[in-house]
Amino acid sequence: MPLSQLLNLFFPSRCPLCFNNSDAFQFSPICSFCWAGIDKYIGPACKICGIPSISEQTSICGECLKTKQPFSRIIYYGLYDSSLKKAIHLLKFRGIKRLAKPLSRLLLELPIPESDLIIPVPLHLKKLREREFNQTALIGSWLSKELNIPIKIDNLFKIKETPPQTMLRRKERLENMKNAFFATGVMNADILLIDDVITSGATVRECSKSLIQKGAKSVTVLALAHSRPTDLKAEVSINPNIPEFSINQDKGSAE
Ligand SMILES: [Zn+2]
Ligand SMILES: [Zn+2]
Repeated sequence: MPLSQLLNLFFPSRCPLCFNNSDAFQFSPICSFCWAGIDKYIGPACKICGIPSISEQTSICGECLKTKQPFSRIIYYGLYDSSLKKAIHLLKFRGIKRLAKPLSRLLLELPIPESDLIIPVPLHLKKLREREFNQTALIGSWLSKELNIPIKIDNLFKIKETPPQTMLRRKERLENMKNAFFATGVMNADILLIDDVITSGATVRECSKSLIQKGAKSVTVLALAHSRPTDLKAEVSINPNIPEFSINQDKGSAE
């Protein structure tokens, strides 16, 4: 038994959701009961950008009808909520890296298309030095092993430091991410782009644009979670000048 697991046995951590003792080392501090509560989102969503809760009658959202997206599709496991949100936070901001494996496992349940390369959404070098790891690269490397697709972390770079998207309006947000990424060595490749949370989609859109501009054949975005539409609406009511469904109310993965 590894030391960390042994320690967990004698000094169990508390589940941040139900406050009971964490029982399964693999997901701890989240307990196995709360982990089992992570639901796959099966409700209505745009067939292209994946935005949840568009009408049952339409399969493509207004935004995707209006503008051609640089990615083929965004697929994700669940809504950015409860246990899934907590797990992503613990991995990303508290550095609990063991959660990368069970989180990656969730993604294996999704219809992942055949791909040539796995590319994680990169962090700017300065951010990477601060955080010491890139959560999307951890998820990407687990998926790479499971799916037998090579992971490339030197084919997409974040070359522009961007302020947190949270405080920005739509126009500023798009401007913020513009030319933030640089791709190389992706000619004719079908790419699986890994992100943790999709909020406005500005980050994965700009990443995909760079990859396609450098000759990638296609980009499919694979993410753990998508923001809840109610969160988006709540922000609309606070900020009525921002059009619905174009809000980034979270820090996003690339920040
Ligand atoms: Zn719990
Ligand atoms: Zn859409």
